[in-house]
Amino acid sequence: MIAHKNFDLTDYNAYRVKSICKNAFFPENEEDLIELYTKKQDYVLIGSGHNIICSKAYYNADFIIFNGNFNKLKVDEIASVIEAEAGATIYEVSNLAQKYALSGAEFFYDIPSSVGGAVVMNAGTKEGETKNILSKVRYLDLADMQVKEKNSEDLELSYRNSLFQKQKDKVILKAWFQLQQGNAEHIKSVMEASKARRWEKQPREYPNCGSVYKRPPGRFVGPMLDELGLKGFRIGGAEVSKKHSGFIVNIGDATGKDILELIKYTKEKVKINFDIDLEVEQRII
Ligand SMILES: Cc1cc2nc3c(=O)[nH]c(=O)nc-3n(C[C@H](O)[C@H](O)[C@H](O)COP(=O)(O)OP(=O)(O)OC[C@H]3O[C@@H](n4cnc5c(N)ncnc54)[C@H](O)[C@@H]3O)c2cc1C
Repeated sequence: MIAHKNFDLTDYNAYRVKSICKNAFFPENEEDLIELYTKKQDYVLIGSGHNIICSKAYYNADFIIFNGNFNKLKVDEIASVIEAEAGATIYEVSNLAQKYALSGAEFFYDIPSSVGGAVVMNAGTKEGETKNILSKVRYLDLADMQVKEKNSEDLELSYRNSLFQKQKDKVILKAWFQLQQGNAEHIKSVMEASKARRWEKQPREYPNCGSVYKRPPGRFVGPMLDELGLKGFRIGGAEVSKKHSGFIVNIGDATGKDILELIKYTKEKVKINFDIDLEVEQRII
């Protein structure tokens, strides 16, 4: 297992906020993870860092990171199932599915995420959500240090939510995705079309963590912020994206504090003008 002292998290959070942690551990397997948690439990756990806001410039804390490690994938062609370790990316899952002409994971292709993060967030697009294809999850329960498995129906998966957001003492180790036989060429074309549609609308040219807020019932966040004249509004290096107001982008040296102040300001304006309490989708660490 690789471990680093005074680890720079800049490349491990998609906002590219400059942040250092005391120690960072990159477990390779379940045994590594159990060894870490047997010593102590107060780690900060992150996946590929595409949905986190680093609120501190220095964390006097130890991080466990699933990004480029603990990432084996297995395909069962007969059952149309992909088994993925928590640190694999869902981009890799969708590519593997396409290679074996398995359909269902096309929407995974353009969501930047680890497998663990996708389960925690029930990541999804208009074309589908993790819940639709997830059949089972294996996790380490820190309450009794036992490795357990649960079927997807028992994971309280709903719009960008899951049991794992409420019960933070569970670390996802592995997930199984149930897919179905399809046509490899068609699957590829669906993946690429979805990517093209998304890149047209999203500010991929600047560091960001996707949609900042959950969609309130019956409304879209971007148009509400446009109506309030907030498109392009900046605090420090954080900006309400000029391309899509539902995103905040780091236009240069944004700090976690800049991002959080911009969120606070935006939420207040929306509350005053629309009487809506915007819920932040991103995890503040
Ligand atoms: C350009 C862009 C586009 C995006 N588009 C979408 C989209 O269309 N749909 C969508 O749903 N999201 C989207 N997102 C947000 C992001 O991709 C998802 O939320 C993603 O699932 C986060 O996964 P992650 O591995 O990066 O998790 P992280 O950001 O690293 O962590 C998120 C949370 O999951 C927890 N966690 C991570 N791994 C584990 C684990 N193994 N066990 C227990 N807890 C864990 C962390 O503690 C944290 O609380 C987008 C982001 C970007 C940058």
